[in-house]
Amino acid sequence: MSKFWSPLVASLEPYVAGEQPVIQDLVKLNTNENPWGPSPRVLEAIHTAATDDLRRYPDPSATKLRQTIAAYHGVSPDEVFLGNGSDEVLAFLFAGLLKHDAPLLYPDITYSFYPTYSKLFDIETKTIPLADDFTIRVEDYAGPCGAIILPNPNAPTGIGLPLKAIAALATQHPDQVVAIDEAYVDYGGETAIPLIATHENIIVIRTFSKSRSLAGMRVGYAVARRPLIEALERMKDSFNSYPLDRLAQAAAQASVEDDAWFMSHRDRLIAIREKLVADLEARGFEVLPSQANFVFARKPGHEGKALATALRERAVLVRHFAKPRIADFLRISIGTESECARLISALDDILT
Ligand SMILES: *Cc1c(COP(=O)(O)O)cnc(C)c1O
Repeated sequence: MSKFWSPLVASLEPYVAGEQPVIQDLVKLNTNENPWGPSPRVLEAIHTAATDDLRRYPDPSATKLRQTIAAYHGVSPDEVFLGNGSDEVLAFLFAGLLKHDAPLLYPDITYSFYPTYSKLFDIETKTIPLADDFTIRVEDYAGPCGAIILPNPNAPTGIGLPLKAIAALATQHPDQVVAIDEAYVDYGGETAIPLIATHENIIVIRTFSKSRSLAGMRVGYAVARRPLIEALERMKDSFNSYPLDRLAQAAAQASVEDDAWFMSHRDRLIAIREKLVADLEARGFEVLPSQANFVFARKPGHEGKALATALRERAVLVRHFAKPRIADFLRISIGTESECARLISALDDILT
């Protein structure tokens, strides 16, 4: 607190990012990054873009990348909005489309940036408890509201929602925006992008940070019908007209173009996840059914915090949330085969 702070700054509750420590030989399974680097074609594209042209501003609306993403999803380029990471897209979404007189609804256990944005933009919210099995029940969102946001799959549970549940939710609230945050959808979920053809109120938010190995580049986007996209464009052009730099545009472009690389690494990650789930279950862990690049697991009789601390002492980082209902759980990002093997041997060391 300082006398120089504005009342707004004093009132904020900033998001706390997962640790990015510099420890030798660390197994880092705490921030859901991809265990492998991006496609070699992405690195080549970044090199190619690193020229004297960097003295020029980038294309403010990333036209070529928008066209490529639109073609990939079978939508029109003007139905795609790009931002500096999906966190920036989410910020514009909260301020531009989710703030209304009635409360914004989201699950009690979800991406912890949602309450942070709500606070920043002074949005009234109402959290809807997950069911006892940690699933989202769309029936529970039937009441009056200003808008709804859900991650699909949800974080940090990893549990996905079927498309028909999302369609039902959007149909039930024709006058409210239903935002679907698909940060992890590539790992087994079903994208809601096809629903925008029939539902003018659905907006889907995507990121290159997880399945595309580009967390360090900060590229995210939204897909929706024109009136919703136009709201985000108005927000962006009132805040920062050049959210994506030249290197980020080139990298993301090359990433979408190298679909074979993307699919083979996604499949490999899913296979590692299935093995990790079996290995954890064999050790008495309860693992929620994951469609994401992480698992959410607890070992009955063991405190989550104590397990996370013991793992850290063995140079394995996982995420623990000291929050009601989930304090016993560990969120473990899927690493390479050898990183997951090191996690399991650290657990064996701790539990015996
Ligand atoms: C990681 C994550 C994001 C943010 O991704 P960036 O594009 O890196 O900003 C958004 N939503 C959820 C649910 C995430 O887990």
